[in-house]
Amino acid sequence: MDEKNSATIEDYLAILLVMQRDGAPVVGARLAELLGVTPPTVTNTLKRMARDGLVTLREGQGLFLTEKGLERAQSVTRRHMLTEWMLMRMLQVPWSQTHSEAHQMEHTVSERVAEQMWTRLGNPQTCPHGNPLPGYEQAANHWLPLMDAAAGARVIIRRIHEMGEDRPDLLQYLEENGLTPGVEVEILEVLPFNETLTLRVNERTLALGFSAARFIFVERCDPGFALGH
Ligand SMILES: [Zn+2]
Ligand SMILES: [Zn+2]
Repeated sequence: MDEKNSATIEDYLAILLVMQRDGAPVVGARLAELLGVTPPTVTNTLKRMARDGLVTLREGQGLFLTEKGLERAQSVTRRHMLTEWMLMRMLQVPWSQTHSEAHQMEHTVSERVAEQMWTRLGNPQTCPHGNPLPGYEQAANHWLPLMDAAAGARVIIRRIHEMGEDRPDLLQYLEENGLTPGVEVEILEVLPFNETLTLRVNERTLALGFSAARFIFVERCDPGFALGH
């Protein structure tokens, strides 16, 4: 397998890992959209991956990673997340750009270097966007979707889901407005008919559409946290 092919396969593996973890069905059209390729290209690549023993089609259940595919998907995801931290901590790359930069580099990082990065970075359990490293999924277990928070709740931003990391405009907006992991916000208003949330962050009021808010996970920071209905 040449280098470019191998990078493409790793991109597929990383997305399949997220979908499998979240229990989301693997749909060709959705993969095509996420990878910016045509559905026939997706079909061809998945066929090649099945031939190489990375994915398998289970009758009536869809597509799954094999043990070999899972191992390789976890490896590239881990290398990606550690590269994000390295870019941010050591090179001061802005938070909103670490994902796209790491995406270019992750395929060439060796397991050995990844291991050293993990140690030097202080054994992080999540990436800078709050997504759990493979094997540390429990780190994100008690974080709730921002969409489930009711008006009046005070929460701490913990995570921007992997599918949100793929949208540079969203990350830039969140960074510019201080909506990054670790920041405390107050939910002022939830308007389902308008599909917006109004938040107070750093003394400022900010409206966020549901299409952006659905990628954000939060931790309650007061006992009066209420879930919306
Ligand atoms: Zn990323
Ligand atoms: Zn990340």
